[in-house]
Amino acid sequence: MESATIAANLQAIQSELPNHVTLVAVSKTKPFELLQAALNAGQVDLGENRVQELVSKAEHFDDQTVRWHHIGHLQTNKVKMVVPHAHLIHAVDSPRLFKEIQNHSASSNRISQVLLQMHIASEEQKFGFTMDELHAFLEEIHRIPSTHVRINGLMGMATFTNDEKQIGREFKALRNTFDELNPGHWDTCSMGMSGDWRIALNEGSTMVRIGSAIFGSR
Ligand SMILES: *Cc1c(COP(=O)(O)O)cnc(C)c1O
Repeated sequence: MESATIAANLQAIQSELPNHVTLVAVSKTKPFELLQAALNAGQVDLGENRVQELVSKAEHFDDQTVRWHHIGHLQTNKVKMVVPHAHLIHAVDSPRLFKEIQNHSASSNRISQVLLQMHIASEEQKFGFTMDELHAFLEEIHRIPSTHVRINGLMGMATFTNDEKQIGREFKALRNTFDELNPGHWDTCSMGMSGDWRIALNEGSTMVRIGSAIFGSR
């Protein structure tokens, strides 16, 4: 993939996004040169799912304005590495992970911004809270320290299917939950990837995470 193509892909997607929707360009597995092409085209938000890769890219692009998003499942033993670099951690899916982020953020004197991942897909293997677990977690959160974590909203992934109606229903459920549970300051409903971001947009996404449609297939 050439720099000009990446710039054109970014521009084409941006032109369809309303101002209040943030584009996270998912650069996982892609080399520095392609990330640089995106940055040169004015892209600021980049998404990575492997902690080690996020850290080495963050260090490489240290002198440039990048907001790093950790987007996939995050293991508690990797929290320490990701906290110093992440602008937003997208997939908090357990009280244990939340507490770990709180602890490492407090000891490094940072406020970490996070999203809670909700399980909306019909597939078993996707991570995230069920509706009941999300309710229980938000109750519990009042009793556990959260001085150094700010929850900005919710994130979810739809089922990998061609059934656009099903995808639409899953995103709608996420957006409804977002509206219902929003304590007032939540501003981020992260949903939509290369194959389904237009559907997500239609259902009220405020943040899309797009990789292959920008950088080519992996
Ligand atoms: C890889 C990934 C994406 C981007 O996937 P594409 O289909 O390449 O757009 C988005 N969100 C998460 C959580 C991912 O792991």
